[in-house]
Amino acid sequence: MGGVPRFWRSIDNRYRLVGTRCKNCGEVFFPPRVVCPNCRSDGEMEEVQLSGRGEVYTYSVVRVPPEGFEDKAPYVVAIVKLEEGPLVTAMIVDCEPGEIDVGTPVEAVFRRISEDGEDGVIYYSLEFRPVREE
Ligand SMILES: [Zn+2]
Repeated sequence: MGGVPRFWRSIDNRYRLVGTRCKNCGEVFFPPRVVCPNCRSDGEMEEVQLSGRGEVYTYSVVRVPPEGFEDKAPYVVAIVKLEEGPLVTAMIVDCEPGEIDVGTPVEAVFRRISEDGEDGVIYYSLEFRPVREE
C-alpha cells in the first residue's frame, strides 16, 4: 500500500470517472476493461459514467513516503469502494489521517499533474477526499 497508482486521463474526460460495465453479467469495472474478468465475455463492455462517490474499504497511513512525496507525509492511501462496486486504490487528500476510517464517505477529485506541450494533453491523477457536510 506504499505506492500511489495514478489513473491518467486525457483532457477530454478529465473530470469524468469512466468505467466499463459488462453487458453480459452486469459487473462494473474501473479502470475500464476490454474483456470482462468476471465472466470472460469479450466485446460486451460498455462505457459507464461513475459517480465518483464511494466509501473507504480499507486504508493505511503512509508515514515513510516514496521519493517525491516527502512533503505530503503522513498521508492516507485507501482502497475506495465505489458506489458502482469497483475497488480503487488512491490517495485520500484534504484530511488528517485521524479523520479517515473504514466506511468514511469519500468523493473523487482530480489533481492536475502535468501538461505535455507537444500535443497539449493534460494529465490528472485521481484522488479522493472525505465528503463533508456543508
Ligand atoms: Zn461479465
